[in-house]
Amino acid sequence: MSEVLNVEEIFGSKVFNLGKMRERLPKTVFKEVRKVMEQGGELSKESADVVAKAMKDWAVENGATHYTHWFQPLNGITAEKHDAFVTHPDEEGRMLMEFSGKELIKGEPDASSFPSGGLRATFEARGYTVWDITSPAFLKEDATGVILCIPTAFCSYTGEALDKKTPLLRSMEAINTQALRIVRLFGNTEAKKVVPSVGAEQEYFLVDHEKYLKRPDLIFSGRTLFGAPAPKGQELEDHYFGAIRERIGSYMKDLNIELWKLGVTAKTQHNEVAPAQHELAPIYESANIAVDHNQLVMETMKKVATRHGLNCLLHEKPFAGVNGSGKHDNWSLTTDNGVNLLDPGKTPNENVQFLLVLACVLKAVDTHADLLRQSAADVGNDHRLGADEAPPAIISVFLGEQLDDVVRQLIETGSADHSIQGEKLVTGVSTLTDIERDATDRNRTSPFAFTGNKFEFRSVGSSDSIASPNTTLNAIVAEAFSEAADRLEKADNFDLAVHDLIKEYLTEHQRIIFNGDGYSKEWVEEAARRGLPNIATTIDAASALTTEKAVKLFEKFGIYSKVELESRQEITYETYSKTINIEALTMIDMAKKLYIPAVVDYTKTLADTVKVLREVGADETVQADILKSVSCELAKANTALKGLEAAVAKASAEKNNKAQAYLYKDEVKVEMDKLRKAVDTLETLVDKKVWPVPAYADLIFEV
Ligand code: ADP
Ligand code: MG
Repeated sequence: MSEVLNVEEIFGSKVFNLGKMRERLPKTVFKEVRKVMEQGGELSKESADVVAKAMKDWAVENGATHYTHWFQPLNGITAEKHDAFVTHPDEEGRMLMEFSGKELIKGEPDASSFPSGGLRATFEARGYTVWDITSPAFLKEDATGVILCIPTAFCSYTGEALDKKTPLLRSMEAINTQALRIVRLFGNTEAKKVVPSVGAEQEYFLVDHEKYLKRPDLIFSGRTLFGAPAPKGQELEDHYFGAIRERIGSYMKDLNIELWKLGVTAKTQHNEVAPAQHELAPIYESANIAVDHNQLVMETMKKVATRHGLNCLLHEKPFAGVNGSGKHDNWSLTTDNGVNLLDPGKTPNENVQFLLVLACVLKAVDTHADLLRQSAADVGNDHRLGADEAPPAIISVFLGEQLDDVVRQLIETGSADHSIQGEKLVTGVSTLTDIERDATDRNRTSPFAFTGNKFEFRSVGSSDSIASPNTTLNAIVAEAFSEAADRLEKADNFDLAVHDLIKEYLTEHQRIIFNGDGYSKEWVEEAARRGLPNIATTIDAASALTTEKAVKLFEKFGIYSKVELESRQEITYETYSKTINIEALTMIDMAKKLYIPAVVDYTKTLADTVKVLREVGADETVQADILKSVSCELAKANTALKGLEAAVAKASAEKNNKAQAYLYKDEVKVEMDKLRKAVDTLETLVDKKVWPVPAYADLIFEV
C-alpha cells in the first residue's frame, strides 16, 4: 500500500491564510486586516508591524530565511528579489531575524531592467512594490531554501502601473462599483461587493528532459522551429481523456501536492487532444488570486517537471501539425451574498436581472471585440488564433440553444414567455439512471462561450498571464453596466425602462452572437459581412490599445491612463520583434551548425558509396538518386538560410518599433518558413541515425 496522503492537512500548509492570521494575530489586528481586505483602505503602521512579525515568525518556523516582494512585471511572468530577515548584530555579535511593517508594505527593487515601454527611462529607475493584502503570502521552497513570498503590485515613482496586477485590481474595483449599481436596481440592498470569479484551465506539454536538451529550438524559443511531422498525429483521437501513463501520472501527483500546499485548488487533470499534451484546472476564485495562482501553476509545472526528468512546455504551439495549448479563462460575477449574476436559473426568460447582465456583456464584447482579442494576443498565440487552429481570431459569443432562443424572442416580440428546458436523457439501458439533460449543448469552437453560469474566454494563450484578459473583461463589462445604470437609475418606470434597454442592447449587438462552427470558412465570410473584426496577429491587435474608444474606456474607470496604454503597445512591438529575432537566430544557428553539417556528411557517405559501387561495377542508381535529391534540398536549405540572414539583418536595423515588428512579421517569418520547409524535407530524406536532433516522433510519442 502506498502512503496515505492527507490532502486536507497539506492544503494551504505553505500559505499565510486567514486561518493562520486568526490564530496568530491579536483579535483587533485581525479584524482590521479583514476590514481592509474587504473594503479597502490602509492598515495602521502599528498593525502592519504586528502582521509583519506574525508573518515572519510563521515563515521562520517553517524554515524561511528570506522574504521577497513577489510581483508581475510586464514581461508576463513573475519577479522576485530575496532579502534575508538578517539584521545588524548587537555588540556581542548576536543577530535577531526581523521583518517590519514597512518592509511588508513597500519595497523598492531596482527595476530599471523590466520592460516599461518608455514609462520610465533607465536613469529614473525608481519603482515600488506595494503589498497586495487581498492575495495571501506563501512560502516557496526550492534549492534556494524557503522564501516568504509577498504578492505585490509594482508601480513607478510617478505612480504608473509597471505591472499586470495594478490594472487588474483597478478593474476589479470598477466592476465592483458598477455591478453594485445594477444589483441595487433590482432591490438587492445586502450585497456589499461584487467580485469577478475566475477559473483558468491550463494546457501544457511534457517532453523528456534529455531530448529537450538536444533541441536548441525548445531551449531558446520554447517551441520546435523545425521538425517533419511524425507518421501519426492526433487523428485517432486516442490521447484525449486517455488513460494516463505512469510517468505522467507520477508527475501529476507531485504537481497536485505542491499546488495544494500553496493553496491552489488543483481539481481536474486529463490528457489533452495532442500526444504529450495535458490539462490542469483549479476551482475558480477571486480574479486577483486566480491570476496569482495561475502564475504559481505555471511555475510549479515547470519545477516539478525537472524533478521527473521531464520538461514542461507552456508555449502555445510547441509542435506544428498537432494542437497547440491555450488557457480557458472562465469568468463570472458573484456578490458577497452568494448570487452569481451570470446564473440564468431554470427559466432565464423570467430572470430580468440576468437578461440585463447578459445584454450588457453582449454589448461590451461587441463594442470592444478588438480589445478582447488584443488582451489574449501574444507572439506564441498567433500560431493558434487566426492561424490554422482554433479558436478563430474573430471574437464572437456562443449562447447555446436555450439563451439564443430567449434572446430571439426578446428581439422579435419585445418579450420572452418561455425557456427551452433540458429534457430527460434516455440511454435505453434499463440499469442506467435517466439523467437530466442540460438545456444547452457545448460548443468547442467559440472564443467566448456561455457555459451554464459563466463565460469561458478560450482565446487566451497557454503561456500568457491571465491578468490582461480579465482586466479587459472587467473593464468592458463595467462600462456597459455603468451606461445601463445611468439610464435605469433615472427611469420613472423601471420595469418598462429595463425591458426597453434589454431589447435595445440585444438588437443592436446581436451580430456578436454566433452559435455555429467557428472554424469554418463560411464563418470568416459571414463575420466580415457582419462587420466583426478579424485581427490576425499580435501586432495588428496592438493598435486596439490606443484607439479613442479604448482610452476613453480605461481612463473613465482609472484602469489605464493613456501613457500606460501606449507603453503596453510599445512593449508589444518590442516583445514581438525580440521573440521572432530569437527564433530566427536559433534557426540560423541550428541550420548552420547542426542540420547542414549533418547533411553534408551524409552526402559524403552517399558519394563515397556511389564511387565504390561504380568501381566494383555494381549498380549505384539508387544511391545516386538519393544523393541527387538530398543535394538538391540541401541547396534549397542553403539558399533559404541566406534569405533568412538577410531578412534578419534588415529587420534588426530598423529603428522604429512598430515598423520593425512588421518587418519581422512580413519578411523574417516568411524566410523562416522557407528554411523550415527545406530542412523538414531533408529530415524525411536523410538516414535517421545521422539526424542531429530528436524527431517529432521521439519527442511526443516517447515521453
Ligand atoms: P467545463 O468542463 O465546462 O469547462 P468545468 O466545470 O470543468 O467546466 O470548469 C472549468 C473551470 O471553470 C474550472 O476552473 C471551474 O472552477 C471554473 N468555473 C466553474 N464555475 C465557475 C464560475 N461560476 N465562475 C468562474 N469559473 C467557474
Ligand atoms: Mg472548459
